[in-house]
Amino acid sequence: MSQRIADCLEVLDLVRSLARQSPRSHSSEWRQKAIAHVASRGVRTKTVFAHLVGKNTNDTLSANEIDQLITEWIKDGSPLLRQWLARSCSESDAERVARFFLTEDTTPIATDIGEPEPTGRHLVTTYRVLRDTALARRIKADMDYTCQNCSARIVLGNGAPYAEAHHVKPLGAPHNGPDHPGNIVCVCPNCHVMLDYGAIVADPTKFSNVLPDFISYHNDVILRGKA
Ligand SMILES: [Zn+2]
Repeated sequence: MSQRIADCLEVLDLVRSLARQSPRSHSSEWRQKAIAHVASRGVRTKTVFAHLVGKNTNDTLSANEIDQLITEWIKDGSPLLRQWLARSCSESDAERVARFFLTEDTTPIATDIGEPEPTGRHLVTTYRVLRDTALARRIKADMDYTCQNCSARIVLGNGAPYAEAHHVKPLGAPHNGPDHPGNIVCVCPNCHVMLDYGAIVADPTKFSNVLPDFISYHNDVILRGKA
């Protein structure tokens, strides 16, 4: 792989991470931070920037143009950035470019946030949206913010307890579970993730407030993946 494409892909990989961390920032900010990081290994910032905008290729872009391509790639999954990079490099580099753009982030989205989104194309800023309905808040208070699964009770720096509410039969399609006290448990973040992704069973003795149907739904559908 040419140094130019190696630098470009490293910058873009960082841009992708930065965009996830601070999605509201302008792409020029991600770009500048990423370039500075790559350059911190002893290359000149100018050189890394020149590589990124394709200086000395037939297709040199301005800073604004590259930022525009980055924005469209991050926000809309636009292929224009990939196409431009592939156009302005050798054939073997084009292969690396193609492979890089295939490695989109595929972290699954929690099952109880509603409609599943296609992975990879959207900028997902928060992987787990916590739907704290009034009922969910009440149940957490009733349980004194103690995890019903592992008994952990988290107290934040400001002294406030922290717990999450989990709908055992998830809200939203395709599960369409109800927002009902017989379907909500108070759990710690670890147990919440494990429940969301079916890594642990719903134990009816621990989730004694949960209706048997919803316990079965978790254990049969979420855990064992039965249709
Ligand atoms: Zn727990």
